[in-house]
Amino acid sequence: CGIVGYVGKDNAKNVVVDGLKRLEYRGYDSAGLALIVNGEIKVFKKVGKIREFEIELNRLNVYSNVGIGHTRWATHGKPTFDNAHPHLSCDGKIALVHNGIIENYAQLKEEFFKKGHKFKSQTDTEVVVHLIEEELRSSRDFFEAFLRAVNRLKGSFALCAITTHEPDRLFCARKDSPLVVGLGEDESFVASDVPAFLSYTNRAVFLDDGEVAVVGRDGAVFYDFSGTEVKKEEVRIPWSL
Ligand code: GLU
Repeated sequence: CGIVGYVGKDNAKNVVVDGLKRLEYRGYDSAGLALIVNGEIKVFKKVGKIREFEIELNRLNVYSNVGIGHTRWATHGKPTFDNAHPHLSCDGKIALVHNGIIENYAQLKEEFFKKGHKFKSQTDTEVVVHLIEEELRSSRDFFEAFLRAVNRLKGSFALCAITTHEPDRLFCARKDSPLVVGLGEDESFVASDVPAFLSYTNRAVFLDDGEVAVVGRDGAVFYDFSGTEVKKEEVRIPWSL
């Protein structure tokens, strides 16, 4: 029920877990993290409290400048390790977190199952990462594939994806589930809510329904679902929030 994404000068692992702790109030049953380490996506997950997850992660010596994290409130599939986000594409080159419910997941799952995709979870979310992977076959770049995937989804979603195809970007989309971008000095954030990044920056851009953001450490570009760039207002959040 919480999303945090980070790209920038710090170790993404620490920033993302710190952000997830600040979103604990939203409720969750499991947590997970994906990082790009030496050109490969590494996923870490745990059922239960973030504090325990953090202790495990502290023992790991991994460093990455880009990562996404998630606290899950299960809607489709039990709160298990396999069902925890992030979810990976078959080739392991895309990782994705999601808040909300994908209403047409069953049809999409059947479509990709027939094409030979293997599913590892019972979630509605996992189908989205397979959809992006499939769209990428006939797209010019990852952004086009992400956009085409988003346009095929029904239901509610806040999405954040990372990919080894473009290892210094976060790809985000929003429909009926909150998502906000935080802009710092040589670092950017994505989150379900501002407290996740407020100790780093108070410059925020709130996504509206039907919007996509491509976020790099030097800033973010916003689009509508047709891929047309939209100019967004930056907001200064009071530090004392
Ligand atoms: N529907 C998704 C799932 O059950 C996302 C739940 C959430 O928003 O945390 O995995």
